[in-house]
Amino acid sequence: MSETILGSLSAEMIELENKYGAHNYHPLPVVLDKGEGVYVWDVDGKRYFDFLSAYSAVNQGHCHPKIINVLIEQAQKLTLTSRAFYNSTLGEYEKFVTSYFGYDKVLPMNTGAEAVETAIKICRKWAYEKKGVAENGAQIIVCEQNFHGRTTTIVSFSSDPGSNKNFGPYPSGFISIPYNDLNALAKALENPNIAGFLVEPIQGEAGVFVPDEGYLSKAAALCKEKNVLFIADEVQTGIARTGKLLACDHENVHADILILGKAISGGVLPVSAVFCNDDIMNVITPGTHGSTFGGNPLANKVAMAALEVVADEKLAENAEKLGKVFRAEMQKLIDETDLLVLVRGKGLLNAVVVNDTEDSSTAWDLCVQLKENGLLAKPTHGNIIRFAPPLVMNEAQLMECVDIIRKTVLAFQK
Ligand SMILES: *Cc1c(COP(=O)(O)O)cnc(C)c1O
Repeated sequence: MSETILGSLSAEMIELENKYGAHNYHPLPVVLDKGEGVYVWDVDGKRYFDFLSAYSAVNQGHCHPKIINVLIEQAQKLTLTSRAFYNSTLGEYEKFVTSYFGYDKVLPMNTGAEAVETAIKICRKWAYEKKGVAENGAQIIVCEQNFHGRTTTIVSFSSDPGSNKNFGPYPSGFISIPYNDLNALAKALENPNIAGFLVEPIQGEAGVFVPDEGYLSKAAALCKEKNVLFIADEVQTGIARTGKLLACDHENVHADILILGKAISGGVLPVSAVFCNDDIMNVITPGTHGSTFGGNPLANKVAMAALEVVADEKLAENAEKLGKVFRAEMQKLIDETDLLVLVRGKGLLNAVVVNDTEDSSTAWDLCVQLKENGLLAKPTHGNIIRFAPPLVMNEAQLMECVDIIRKTVLAFQK
């Protein structure tokens, strides 16, 4: 792996993380200290384009002033009450966010994984109380190569050994089928105990796998036919990332259960949410689910501001437009070099595949070189590099980034 010269301050901070923190991540060797819009700065003051956006949590750009001002104002007033009492922001937030996404009700949580867990619980309870599945018989269909988070239940149905090896025993109730395979779905749906189909509209973590056009709408129709809930995990694809407010919007699919997280707060606080209509959400009654921080006043205000920014600044339209430019530019580069094989994605959720074996360090080494040249991206699953800048980027900045990627790739020596 290629080495990089670090300032002594960076080296010191990396050493602290190494010594005192669990080693559950393998970060690129850069220590970030400040962010604004599409840029981040390291502790030595060097500026970078952020091309990861905290896994699409910072769609609105770093430290967006409108969101930060709302955060400060609410932080000085009231931050947490728990749900033991009503608070003056939750109802307003719930009304705002359900009308924003077009659902009767929302259940507020904090992290993406918690929201996925919540959706699983709602789906199972619905299966027993509304669909009539016999107790403990409910099954949820999931897809191979999925990423839905890191809890014990969620990793149990991951196909990535890194995620689930030695974390068993695994709970039952999940059936895994290949992604983007309608025949496999139709076959699995023949089982009368199926309660839901949990799917990412684009598999982001796996390497930005975009399913065939029509997959989501046909999958949703198959589910409807069998009275099975279509559950969309849009934690990464949602909130304008793919060029529409939701990736499901590309196929006019209205998921029975919608899961959001990440950019719903503009990367300011952990905020997640599960949406569905009354006939489904009403299976949740007092005492059946909860979270101390879910729906807290700070999160409610921040999420409203973050979603207003998405609409006011037309971030979906911008992602749609710049995504096309970016993929066209990457295709030109691919035509000129043997180092890259293909580019894929939607809106500003894209990936390039590096021409090397999956266990090679080429993608990592390329990311280290990109960092040296002022652009931060991270490999996902071996030889794939995900490119997902904040959606507040303009075309001139994007072309500057294309230039950095181009120069880095053409100068790269394996
Ligand atoms: C990031 C992610 C999650 C998990 O979110 P956390 O906030 O890290 O728990 C779930 N689903 C998808 C699709 C994600 O990208």
